[in-house]
Amino acid sequence: MKDISGTTRICGLIGNPVEHTKSPIIHNTLAEELGIDLCYGAFRVDDDKVEDAIKGAYALNILGMNVTVPYKSRVIASLSDIDPLAKKIGAVNTLVRTEGGFKGYNTDMPGLYRAMCYDGVDIRNEKVVILGAGGVARAVLMMLIEKGAKEIVIVNRTIEKAREIMEEAYKFADRERQSIKAVSVEEFISDASDKEYIAIQATSVGMYPNVDCSPCEDPSFYEKVKAGYDLIFNPEETLFMKMVRESGGKAYNGLKMLLYQGIIAFELWTGEKVSDDLADKILQKMKHS
Ligand code: NAP
Repeated sequence: MKDISGTTRICGLIGNPVEHTKSPIIHNTLAEELGIDLCYGAFRVDDDKVEDAIKGAYALNILGMNVTVPYKSRVIASLSDIDPLAKKIGAVNTLVRTEGGFKGYNTDMPGLYRAMCYDGVDIRNEKVVILGAGGVARAVLMMLIEKGAKEIVIVNRTIEKAREIMEEAYKFADRERQSIKAVSVEEFISDASDKEYIAIQATSVGMYPNVDCSPCEDPSFYEKVKAGYDLIFNPEETLFMKMVRESGGKAYNGLKMLLYQGIIAFELWTGEKVSDDLADKILQKMKHS
């Protein structure tokens, strides 16, 4: 247990619920390994107290905060500044203390991107299919546009929602080079070429305890996929990942995305750079927690 003193800087997570979070493992281990006098805790905040919590955190000289479900959009109104990527995505998961207030960032998407780079999966000029059209799928879409994917297909149970995020995303895309489509899973299966797509599973389907489900259980879908990312990390191997692997593709879960969103937040708070070796060490600790 770390010695906490009068000089210890405090960081923390706000959300509701927060009891399940792995973020304290990430930040307290980073602080310990890098010899930084910092301590990280989790704060469950009620719905009508979000603005008070942010004002209070600033008044208490708190160095930085993470924000989780359901407040990632709500907190934007309480910030003094916002990073352009977070503004585009419309969700903030990291608050950095600045003169006059907190500045908001989104480190979830840079976190996913860094996890993909770590795995050797390059998005530039690739064809990508996203399963889902919720808050996280929308953010993934913005990241794919920014990182130069050439074709993005959105497949969602409610096709209207897929169309909505497609329309919005087109405002940011390079229309001459990038195509974005919203289609049914049947259309995707009949039109897409085999083994050409990176699939990103951004729905909540397959998460513990409902581990026997995937948003798409038709094996023909997986014939199109050469690599699959499930943003879920519990269970370690989802049905989606299993089906990607059974069809010969590589599959990854969302634990590294979670780790790297934390690492990027930590780097923003402290100015330190976290090495891949240290990231690996923390990943092992998270796996065993
Ligand atoms: P959300 O806004 O509630 O969206 C949920 C999505 O799941 C929608 O597209 C919804 O489709 C789809 N869906 C839900 N139940 C379904 C079902 N039975 N069959 C087919 N589709 C279904 O959620 P979100 O905030 O985007 O989060 C999505 C997931 O991302 C979370 O569950 C979490 O696992 C993951 N996540 C991971 C990290 C990480 O660090 N690894 C960080 C954040 C989130 P409809 O539009 O048809 O309802």
